[in-house]
Amino acid sequence: MKSEPPDLARRSALSRGALLLAGIAVTVVSTRPAKAKAKAAKEDFGFQEEPNEDGKSCPGCINFTPKASGKYGADSGDCALLEGDVCKHCYCQGWTDKNSAGAKKAGT
Ligand code: SF4
Repeated sequence: MKSEPPDLARRSALSRGALLLAGIAVTVVSTRPAKAKAKAAKEDFGFQEEPNEDGKSCPGCINFTPKASGKYGADSGDCALLEGDVCKHCYCQGWTDKNSAGAKKAGT
């Protein structure tokens, strides 16, 4: 069996070591739990516990997800934008029409 010159063998070992370290780094980064995205404060978006003057409220907003219980009882919901509970009769300046947002996503 033919042996490698000492410089080549050393370079090869260093390359393998670098690849091993890179693999460990990728594994550590990819196995970390994703941090939850921070939500905005209600007062920053003019949150109110009633519909706006046009009758817009959370259920018509793409950011709204209803839930069975919470601060507003059976009217409670989660908001993708704001922290804390929102409700079926609430509204804020982040309101985004769930129907037009869906149409944009579908490319229509
Ligand atoms: S963005 Fe505003 S209107 Fe939309 S669900 Fe959240 S609180 Fe309600």
